[in-house]
Amino acid sequence: MKIAILSRNPRLYSTRRLKEAGEARGHQVDVIDTLHCYMDITKSRPTVRYKGKELEYYDAVIPRIGASITFYGTSVVRQFEVMGTFSVNESVAISRSRDKLRSLQLLSRKGVGLPRTGFANRPDNIKDLIKNVGGAPVVIKLLEGTQGIGVVLADTDKAAESIVEAFMGLNANILVQEFIKEAGGADIRCFVVGNKVVAAMKRQGAEGEFRSNLHRGGSATLVRLTKEERATAVNAAKVMGLNVCGVDILQSKNGPVVMEVNSSPGLEGIEVATNKDVATMVMEFIETNAKPNNTRTRGQG
Ligand code: ADP
Ligand code: MG
Repeated sequence: MKIAILSRNPRLYSTRRLKEAGEARGHQVDVIDTLHCYMDITKSRPTVRYKGKELEYYDAVIPRIGASITFYGTSVVRQFEVMGTFSVNESVAISRSRDKLRSLQLLSRKGVGLPRTGFANRPDNIKDLIKNVGGAPVVIKLLEGTQGIGVVLADTDKAAESIVEAFMGLNANILVQEFIKEAGGADIRCFVVGNKVVAAMKRQGAEGEFRSNLHRGGSATLVRLTKEERATAVNAAKVMGLNVCGVDILQSKNGPVVMEVNSSPGLEGIEVATNKDVATMVMEFIETNAKPNNTRTRGQG
């Protein structure tokens, strides 16, 4: 097969591993810099151009779209979909996953366990907003934050109010969430491929840190999932419409709750922690599913 990885950097661990795994299975795998793709959307035959030439036809693309280029990146993925190329994750699903509120609304609609979460726009709602998720301590998040940046823990109602006011003063979109204290600064990253959790790791935040992100100094270990955790992760991926994703779960006293679903999950942390060849599993998924026009949306929406 001919497979393109849409990635800004061929040297990234995830990009390298996917290329390596694909080539080992006899595929042609090219790394294409998403931001250097440009498109002709007016022609009857849609194309993607790259470095002055029309791109050859690929059987599949693997989008690795960073959060900072979601807008342009998803439009490049959409163009491939319009051309009939199979995309491991579709553009609409990637866009959905980038908006935490939208993701939580979709998940709650389908009954996936979530932390109690509030969202508001007008400052006169702040007290009630905080009360409504159970009062302090609460977690306040920027809607489009990533890698733990823009996630703040407020210990008291007063602190929570000030933080919400400050963010609102900056016109930032935020959500206020019940703090799952019993998670103990840890979460579980479930790596989903197709409709299976293929690898899972527990991430523990650094000493004194409630955020478990590896980028914030957290450390990862292998974990065995309960049946309920496994089902929650698979269900969340399905609701989001993502074939390959990282579902982050907190272990709350009421069972597993989904915190977020990541559409470009990194491979390094999970492969190192679990010693599993996740890249090859992604390739196997492509081999089974990449047929022309086998995207659900074909670039609609
Ligand atoms: P990001 O997209 O920046 O990673 P997250 O929503 O995943 O933002 O939050 C970062 C980390 O903060 C999580 O991995 C988790 O450890 C911690 N965290 C986030 N929300 C909560 C919460 N409601 N209760 C307890 N811990 C939380
Ligand atoms: Mg996270």
